[in-house]
Amino acid sequence: MRIVVCLKVVPRPEEVKVNLESKTLDRAGARSVLNPADVNALETALAFRDTVGGKVTVLSMGPPQFEPYLRVAPAVGADEAVLLSDRAFGGADTLATSYTLATAIGKIGGADLIVCGEESSDGGTSQVPPSIAEWLDASQATYVERIVSGKSAATVLATRVLENGKETVELDLPAVVSVVVGANEPRFIDYDRWAFAQSASVKVLDFAALGGDPQYLGLKGSPTTVAGLREVRKPGRRREVLTVTADDAAARIKAEIERAGLVRN
Ligand SMILES: Cc1cc2nc3c(=O)[nH]c(=O)nc-3n(C[C@H](O)[C@H](O)[C@H](O)COP(=O)(O)OP(=O)(O)OC[C@H]3O[C@@H](n4cnc5c(N)ncnc54)[C@H](O)[C@@H]3O)c2cc1C
Repeated sequence: MRIVVCLKVVPRPEEVKVNLESKTLDRAGARSVLNPADVNALETALAFRDTVGGKVTVLSMGPPQFEPYLRVAPAVGADEAVLLSDRAFGGADTLATSYTLATAIGKIGGADLIVCGEESSDGGTSQVPPSIAEWLDASQATYVERIVSGKSAATVLATRVLENGKETVELDLPAVVSVVVGANEPRFIDYDRWAFAQSASVKVLDFAALGGDPQYLGLKGSPTTVAGLREVRKPGRRREVLTVTADDAAARIKAEIERAGLVRN
């Protein structure tokens, strides 16, 4: 089983600043972490590989500074880590990101199963996994919490978490699944593998190595534009001290509740 896990390195949300003029996120000063849902996706992939055998490759797109973060993958048992990094990939929206990831999956030999997180904690569109499935013409399932073998070697069973319960669907391979955050308990770093992980190199693929159609990459391949951006301030708590009798206070509170339309008949 060839399994690819798409893992995004994201800035800590509390450290990202919004530039209202350029309508972009300023991630420069923020420290990075592995996207939480992707850590669950990696655990899903490793647990499935441990049952059926095969190889887990971690795939990420981002600047060269992401490389050290990807070393966690071999330290927890992934077989290979690949970083797609080139200025040509920069400024990508979800369409260009999914195209680049899908092209890379083909380039590294294809995959039977592609495991993503349900959403990133920075962009948070959840569009990338279904888009990868479209580029690769693969089956897909979102909100997955568990993967097990299917009735034949050509399928897998994916359990999806829905609003009112769970459902299990059988997917033909190749398939793309996106895993819900908190789906499992990610394993700790195996310290026997830590030294190996430090020496194991993350394979970096640039535009020349990846190939692909330049018109679908980076800013050029990104039809999404930010039309507007506004700061939403949390309304402050309104407070008023009443120096009146209890009866007057009760009447005043009743009037306020009625004014706010909170009275049920
Ligand atoms: C309107 C708009 C404008 C944007 N402009 C820019 C811009 O100018 N410059 C810029 O850098 N970004 C920009 N972005 C962000 C960029 O689109 C996202 O970083 C990227 O496309 C991933 O989308 P997402 O974060 O919504 O991922 P989601 O679809 O929420 O992610 C789901 C899963 O897909 C996988 N995944 C997503 N991204 C990656 C990745 N890079 N590597 C590996 N796996 C991944 C992960 O498994 C993740 O859990 C913009 C986003 C929007 C919505």
